[in-house]
Amino acid sequence: MDYKNKNAVITGAGRGIGKAIATAFAKAGANIVILEKNEDKDNKLKEEFSSYPGTFTYISIDISDYNAVLDAFAKITEKLGSIDILVNNAGITRDNLLIRMEEKDWDDVINTNLKGTFNCCKAAIPVMMKKRYGKIINIASVIGEIGNAGQINYAASKAGIIGLTKSLAKEVARRNITVNAIAPGFIETSMTKSLPENVVEDYLKSIPERKLGKPEDIANVVLFLSSEAANYITGQVINVDGGLVM
Ligand code: NAD
Repeated sequence: MDYKNKNAVITGAGRGIGKAIATAFAKAGANIVILEKNEDKDNKLKEEFSSYPGTFTYISIDISDYNAVLDAFAKITEKLGSIDILVNNAGITRDNLLIRMEEKDWDDVINTNLKGTFNCCKAAIPVMMKKRYGKIINIASVIGEIGNAGQINYAASKAGIIGLTKSLAKEVARRNITVNAIAPGFIETSMTKSLPENVVEDYLKSIPERKLGKPEDIANVVLFLSSEAANYITGQVINVDGGLVM
């Protein structure tokens, strides 16, 4: 797939799944914009991405901040002229049973995962509508489909992302903009690294492929959904989970 001259904005791409997505787009020739809460310490990412053919922009931002997001997208549009692809990937967990969950744990997860996705869609859609072209991919989770004890905030945010995806897909379909979601299963990143070994073993038993996924497994599907080969796919949730949810 060739993404030369395509401008791709990816949130939370400082590490993990987002970084794998940004890297896959960069290798395919796209101009990359990373919106990430953490700083790019010592310009490490900037240096890493300088070997790819497209341009690289790193914006340090909290995507739950509505005005900051609108501002950032205005600057991106001024610099690049358009936004062709938006991948809403940034996400956090603050796990606890409802009985012990603090209000802040609920608010932080909903504000980052769900409101952050709204903020970026809200900022990108007018630009995409103007060009009559756009591909939005929202990273949900299998947990948004099947739930999980200890993750009511995360599950609600990801189920919300699925509802947002389907509704927005209906709103913008006639403008040549597709909106899809990916529901990853258990992927090897820092988000899952802290799980105790016995918990991972239990998870593995419920995954028909009997293995955890890699960030690249998600990046491959993002690139497909962003390509012209996927023009007739919108409002869908694609599970990338080794068969966990069928
Ligand atoms: P990760 O924690 O490794 O990376 C998430 C990135 O998002 C980090 O770089 C973090 O700094 C950034 N981020 C967090 N809050 C932000 C904010 N407010 N503004 C900007 N950036 C912010 O996580 P990951 O495993 O790579 O997960 C990526 C996405 O995939 C998340 O949405 C997650 O919910 C989803 N997901 C992951 C798994 C998994 O097994 N790892 C499974 C299902 C879904």
